[in-house]
Amino acid sequence: MTDSFDVIVIGSGPGGYVAAIRAAQLGLKTACVEKDKTLGGTCLNVGCIPSKCLLQSSEMYFQLLHEGKTHGIEATPTLNFSQMMKRKSEVVAGFNQGIQGLFKKNRITAIQGLATFKDPHTITVEGKKYTAKNFILATGSEPTPLPFLPFDEEKVLSSTGALALKEVPKKMIVVGAGIIGVELGSVYSRLGTEVHFVEFLDKICPTLDSAISTALQQTLTQQGLTFQLSSKVAGAEVKASGVQLSIEGGKTLSADKALLSIGRRPYTQGLGLEALQITPDQRGFIPIDRNFRTSHPHIYAIGDIVDGPMLAHKASEEGVAVAELIAGQSPHIEYIAIPSVVYTHPEVGAVGLTEEEAKKMGISIKTGKFPFKANSRARCSGEDVGFVKMIAEAQTGILLGVHILSAHAGELIAEATLALEKRATAADLARTCHAHPTLSEALKEAALALTSKPIHL
Ligand SMILES: Cc1cc2nc3c(=O)[nH]c(=O)nc-3n(C[C@H](O)[C@H](O)[C@H](O)COP(=O)(O)OP(=O)(O)OC[C@H]3O[C@@H](n4cnc5c(N)ncnc54)[C@H](O)[C@@H]3O)c2cc1C
Repeated sequence: MTDSFDVIVIGSGPGGYVAAIRAAQLGLKTACVEKDKTLGGTCLNVGCIPSKCLLQSSEMYFQLLHEGKTHGIEATPTLNFSQMMKRKSEVVAGFNQGIQGLFKKNRITAIQGLATFKDPHTITVEGKKYTAKNFILATGSEPTPLPFLPFDEEKVLSSTGALALKEVPKKMIVVGAGIIGVELGSVYSRLGTEVHFVEFLDKICPTLDSAISTALQQTLTQQGLTFQLSSKVAGAEVKASGVQLSIEGGKTLSADKALLSIGRRPYTQGLGLEALQITPDQRGFIPIDRNFRTSHPHIYAIGDIVDGPMLAHKASEEGVAVAELIAGQSPHIEYIAIPSVVYTHPEVGAVGLTEEEAKKMGISIKTGKFPFKANSRARCSGEDVGFVKMIAEAQTGILLGVHILSAHAGELIAEATLALEKRATAADLARTCHAHPTLSEALKEAALALTSKPIHL
């Protein structure tokens, strides 16, 4: 007998599982298919969550080792790397169970196995057929290898391999200084690895505002990470001792591990797109309309397999929106108000347009800046590196972008995100009372810098 549903979601990442929960909450009979043994997708199993666990643990180690003394704490920490990894795996396992619990609570049928379309209304999983009125494709993405250097997860690592090492490497070359690269590079650098980046472009984390990207590179360099920009890896040799990379122009670099973080590509293998006559675009993304519909009106696609920033919360917002569309509601996503965070130390929190993007769009802008050196809470904490940069439309003062380099910038960006979502002006933010002493006062001061003058500078 074939099981039938109102909605079948394919993939249980932050796009898929959130879509399934929202669909079920709206009264739709819902199933979610996942090919892997655990729920949660890239984000929970090999992405956001394990990387943030290791970033937190490695930061704690680094601070005890290097920063305790100024606070009057003298201790020499001992690194127990296998415990660090064990803790990370336990946090992940806890959330795996958490999603299972949420599925049960919302009466969502979890189906384990690879979903393959046989026709636009039928999938098979492990030989069993399932039909649905609506499908949501949320099959995510995978790390992109270099054509001449496949991942072996021993010496040539993807982010997945870098999150599962048994020992701290002596030397690591990170190919690609994007967000995932600088985060994982930071983890191992703090634990004692000599980390060297080779980046094709002339800046790190290229989607960031240039002022932030430059300042982030400076502070990471002070922490001991080294960067080689505008450089292309042209060849590679894997040896018993490690990996040797040749850089275009003649130089060679060696390390015991190479972490390739040159980007991620949409994952649609085995999904049976041929049976749907859906052809991914040149970069592998599934084409959709403004309502996330593929060329079949009852088949939607969300998250990393569609165009846009590859971010967990973007996938989740789209998951909620599609579930609500299917239930007959009219949801809306304000894409300019999707924040992005780099979890280095200090962190970067960014939302909206960068100065370069605004200028390229021909928008006349005003900017305001405020350094954390002049923020009392940052000085108390001894974490006063960084600044807030605010960009507003010159004529109206409506905020277009906010870029923060600071400790806890990932938390601070929420206020700016709400401001952009609600189309607030810099004056609105400048007039808002902020608790003292907090890091968030730097946002008010940057807004004051944009509209008139900051108080503390
Ligand atoms: C190291 C790392 C760190 C990251 N850190 C962050 C961060 O801090 N913040 C952030 O916002 N984003 C982060 N990301 C990105 C984030 O993980 C992704 O944007 C997010 O997981 C995308 O969600 P998704 O639901 O589209 O797909 P995924 O999470 O990739 O989930 C897709 C799921 O579909 C399953 N699947 C695929 N094909 C099939 C099939 N045919 N049948 C059944 N199941 C299938 C897969 O097994 C997978 O579980 C990070 C990524 C990495 C790699």
